[in-house]
Amino acid sequence: MNLPMDFSAFPAFEPGWVWLAGAGPGDVGLLTLLAAHGLQQADVVVYDALVSDGVMALARDDAVQIYAGKRGGRPSCRQQDISAQLIERAKQGLRVLRLKGGDPFVFGRGGEEAQALGVAGIPFRIIPGVTAGIGALGTAGIPLTHRDVNQAVTFITGHTDNPEGTTSLDWQALARSAPVLVIYMGMRRLEAIAQNLLNAGKPPDEPVAIISNATLPDQHILETTLSLAAQDASAHGLTPPAIIVIGDVVPLRTHLRKT
Ligand code: SAH
Repeated sequence: MNLPMDFSAFPAFEPGWVWLAGAGPGDVGLLTLLAAHGLQQADVVVYDALVSDGVMALARDDAVQIYAGKRGGRPSCRQQDISAQLIERAKQGLRVLRLKGGDPFVFGRGGEEAQALGVAGIPFRIIPGVTAGIGALGTAGIPLTHRDVNQAVTFITGHTDNPEGTTSLDWQALARSAPVLVIYMGMRRLEAIAQNLLNAGKPPDEPVAIISNATLPDQHILETTLSLAAQDASAHGLTPPAIIVIGDVVPLRTHLRKT
């Protein structure tokens, strides 16, 4: 698809470069112009599972599209293979667009890819994207900060690599000092996360929203409470990808909703 826009003032995508770009949470309208510009020029697009079809439709028809998806529980591409692929294609003199869901530097291992490119001497540009933890809230009508509610926001990942499912997160500290928690990759461990927060003193009726497939046609928003979150999520059949928001900004949605 061609965009009806003059991109001539934008930086040129030089052969042999890698652009490491965020694709936003899914809705193509939330893609940055610079990422769209990259998509229109790239010879090779290496994309993640969470990059939507609408975004990929902006790639050149003759671009090579390489899937480098990593979804919890499914066979994944190894991180070092993805980095090696980027390096190899760039060394061939191709314009390589590495597209990651949301923002490449938020729970997306973009930092590791950039490091690998740096070590290999490949020139690259980072293009930020709308991260799901911000885009999902706006779309759901939940303000991330609200003057009367919170002066801080805490982003955490529910993902853990170790088999016991333990994390380095200090739940006591979070329960005490994080008025609003935004959780990525938390669905599979929702029950444990909620229990950790309850044990650490968060009240059972603490408001929770779960936003799955945010900004996409199958977006689903569930409002619940900390003690009921896991059970409600499974009763409603909510599946990843989802953002979990915990805190008193959630009920503001009711007042801010247009309909
Ligand atoms: N770099 C990405 C995050 C990658 S981790 C970003 O900045 O958004 C993957 C997690 O992101 C998912 O498990 C989910 O928690 C969240 N996520 C990504 N896209 C989403 C979407 N459309 N709706 C809800 N959550 C999403």
